[in-house]
Amino acid sequence: MLTKKLPPVHSFLLLVSRHVGHLARQQYDVIVVGGGHAGTEAAAAAARVGAETLLVTQKIHTIGVLSCNPSLGGVGKGQLVKEIDALDGLCGRAGDYAGIHFSILNRRKGPAVWGPRAQLDRQRYREFIQSELLSTPRLTVSEGSVEELLVTEPNPEEPGKHRVTGIRLANCDHSISASSVVLTTGTFLSGSLFMGQTSSPGGRIGDAPSSAGLSHTLRERLRLKIGRLRTGTPPRIVKDSVDLSLTQLHPPDSHPTPFSFLNTRTYCKPEEQLPCYLTYTTPGVERVVRESLHLNCHIQQDTKGPRYCPSIESRVLRFPGRKHQVWLEPEGVTSDLLYPQGLSMTMPPDTQLRLIREIPGMHKAEIHTPGYGVQYDFVCPTQLSPALQVKSTQGLFLAGQINGTTGYEEAAAQGLWAGTNAARWALSVPPVALSRTESYIGVLIDDLVSRGVTEPYRMFTSRAEFRTSLRPDNADLRLSLKGWKEAGCVSSLRYQEALRVKNSLQDALASLRALGMSTTNWRKKLPGIHISETKSSILTGMDVLQYKDVTFEMLANVFPEHLSSYMEFSQRLKIEAVYKPHCDANKKEIERIQREENMSLPQDIDYLSLPVSLSQEVREILDRVRPSTLGAATRLEGITPAAIVNLLNYVNFNG
Ligand code: FAD
Repeated sequence: MLTKKLPPVHSFLLLVSRHVGHLARQQYDVIVVGGGHAGTEAAAAAARVGAETLLVTQKIHTIGVLSCNPSLGGVGKGQLVKEIDALDGLCGRAGDYAGIHFSILNRRKGPAVWGPRAQLDRQRYREFIQSELLSTPRLTVSEGSVEELLVTEPNPEEPGKHRVTGIRLANCDHSISASSVVLTTGTFLSGSLFMGQTSSPGGRIGDAPSSAGLSHTLRERLRLKIGRLRTGTPPRIVKDSVDLSLTQLHPPDSHPTPFSFLNTRTYCKPEEQLPCYLTYTTPGVERVVRESLHLNCHIQQDTKGPRYCPSIESRVLRFPGRKHQVWLEPEGVTSDLLYPQGLSMTMPPDTQLRLIREIPGMHKAEIHTPGYGVQYDFVCPTQLSPALQVKSTQGLFLAGQINGTTGYEEAAAQGLWAGTNAARWALSVPPVALSRTESYIGVLIDDLVSRGVTEPYRMFTSRAEFRTSLRPDNADLRLSLKGWKEAGCVSSLRYQEALRVKNSLQDALASLRALGMSTTNWRKKLPGIHISETKSSILTGMDVLQYKDVTFEMLANVFPEHLSSYMEFSQRLKIEAVYKPHCDANKKEIERIQREENMSLPQDIDYLSLPVSLSQEVREILDRVRPSTLGAATRLEGITPAAIVNLLNYVNFNG
């Protein structure tokens, strides 16, 4: 994969249509609006499923832009990248191509919660995504701003249900039709940018917000509940102006681990990786924040921002007197800028300069581009089905920041799933769902559509109840086969590879289980390893591999005729062995949840007058959220176990 030569971005730009007048057709199966992280995955997935797809975005050259931090993955987010890759998405391979500093976060904990992460070269990431989209069959990319969503009036046979029929672009009087539309407008919906005391309309610096017409359709015609959130980005710092000798050097992993299951190495050679640097805030930083609060209108607003990626103003005000970390991260191989992670700020530019110069190593630092904040509308995601389709509008799908999430990985994951289901809707095949028992993407979507958001949502490993089963190492086994057989978004190449891996792992596990010996004999075979007495007289290779100091390589040395052909999978087999007891213990609970997930709740059920014993509060919650399954109802806040039993009885009796 990585040896593929990428076409230069400028030749790509010549090949795509720049204006709707050049489009070969005025009718598509799927139209994706927005070329950010959600939109690119949605468009590529819809095309892979087999739909004629159009991606319309404001500026083609910003496709694949990293609006904020030049990095991918991390704890919880890395799991999402692995799953997106397992479903044949783009971002994992893009990360392997663009990564310039790879590290596995959380290494001191178990492999289930390791966080694969890479610092990225912004330019390379963009090139990869643009090049991939260009070479995707059935996908057309066009530049334009979508002014209006075309929808029918509610169908008298299905009251309350609109149907999407296409889009209309700004400055263009004809429309483009489609069976489904995926909206992925990110921070652009009624977006406003903030710096100091000024605010101006914008979705991102240098980019106009989404047109008012789009907001109007969502609010006034479709009557969707809309909320408002905010986020911010730090100033970019001129690298040469920083005295890096006063900071702590943080080298990357010496052996970079690729994100993609299709890659055995990263594009960047281990020795070519760039380091990051760590420095800290000082009391001077806190002083500048406090002195300039009256000049900072973004921070004075009540709108909720990302709690786990707060601005420096929020950090200082919440934790006065503390020293806060500031990571200085490279922006690219040839870039002369540094990204100061932890210093998102919205004060006036001269105050930003004063603030950063209070930080060790940055006393003479220069700002290339000041930090700023953005506030934007989002659609309350409880109005969506698990396929990410708007419940009240057939064929309309939403993905990414528009659903109240924050982060590239969260956006990309939703995009892939919304694009897959939008294509299935257009091709008249039933939607597919991902359960929270089988993937982090399932957890993300279930949290959004069942619980909604009150602040920007980001993924954590703690959100996944079955994280010992949902590991980064086994995402291909969990999802690539399903993605091929059930969802249709996985290519034959990836399916064949996942099948090969699955069969080999099964054979290897069978061989390990077949190696049965007494404790005494194992002690003779593995001198130096303390193998404790157990109740069972025979221990298998699988049991022994669970010991902390036993590696698969050791066992393969002792039994080369049985195990040496599986050396390629040594780390995966070790992880399988370590987690086997946890996974076995979870099995019953997973099966129970899967049974509940399979129990659909009719969407037209009248909860307010349902003839079962439910409190008024529970009825109102169920009526508002309309969970699609009993499992989803179980996870709603305010729903009691007694209410679930009564609902279960009702469904069993009437279903
Ligand atoms: P975006 O990447 O925003 O893409 C939206 C796309 O839609 C754009 O290409 C836009 O041009 C296009 N578009 C919009 N309206 C229309 C229209 N009407 N017609 C055609 N095209 C349209 N994430 C973090 O995890 N941590 C952070 O600290 C953080 N800080 C951020 C700071 C700023 C200033 C910004 C802008 C974003 C920040 N993010 C942060 C969020 C991160 O960038 C997003 O989560 C991610 O990019 C969302 O992806 P998306 O695809 O939903 O939207």
